[in-house]
Amino acid sequence: MTQDLVPDIDRLILQRPASKTALSPFRELAVLMAQAAPEIKPVQVEKEMRDIQKQEGFPLFSRENLPLDLDAAAGLLKAFLVHLSTADRDDSKGLKKALKQAESGDGWPGRLFMAILKQDEKALAEMATGVNLDPNVLAFLGKTALRPSIERLRETASGDIDKTGWDKGYCPLCGSQPDMAFFEKTGKRYLHCELCGEEWPYSRIQCPFCNIQEQEKLGYFEAEEEEGFRVYFCRECLRYIKTIDKKAFEAAAPLELENLATIHLDLLAQENGFK
Ligand SMILES: [Zn+2]
Ligand SMILES: [Zn+2]
Repeated sequence: MTQDLVPDIDRLILQRPASKTALSPFRELAVLMAQAAPEIKPVQVEKEMRDIQKQEGFPLFSRENLPLDLDAAAGLLKAFLVHLSTADRDDSKGLKKALKQAESGDGWPGRLFMAILKQDEKALAEMATGVNLDPNVLAFLGKTALRPSIERLRETASGDIDKTGWDKGYCPLCGSQPDMAFFEKTGKRYLHCELCGEEWPYSRIQCPFCNIQEQEKLGYFEAEEEEGFRVYFCRECLRYIKTIDKKAFEAAAPLELENLATIHLDLLAQENGFK
């Protein structure tokens, strides 16, 4: 069984009604996700190898070599498409087309997963055009379908990772960039992996994307009347990262939900020229 996000989604919507638009459609996927039971074989990496990897700054896996249960992910993707294509949505025609492709048996879901894992924007755009869907929607569905499998892998492999002193801007498990950050109650900063959800400590005054530490190039802004959220930005590489201060909350929701619930902060950051 996969982590059931539904209670957290319901709580977030209740506490912050503005998040409903983003979270409601995801709630339906979360119901299907909680039923997924991917099989991940125990990961065996020699300690010696792990030490070398850490020393050299290599993550445990590269994105395209993650040992995932892609069949389980393909099954879940089909379940998403069956569900969404019958819902009242503007893109239901495209979703039906995608479902047909996913059921055609020619490996379409596998190609989608590879495009996502390899971050092959071109392949992803072509696949989306082929079924008349927005590439962002298709990527989101593919990534969400992979999630239970990635979560199982993280549970299996996370113990193998020594995160102390990692202090890199990319994930020690899969090498991906962070999509969010948070301050622990002690004030220590952690980054959250956009793909596998692993969390690791990172310097407080440093850009995770270009690594600069020059304080005058780093800054943050807050949304009005919204305590506990900040957007940290870097004037060198123009990237930003949404950050939650856990001190401000009794219990913060899983960060993948907070990420969806704070899309207005992404818009704000983008309006200010950050990416
Ligand atoms: Zn990761
Ligand atoms: Zn930077």
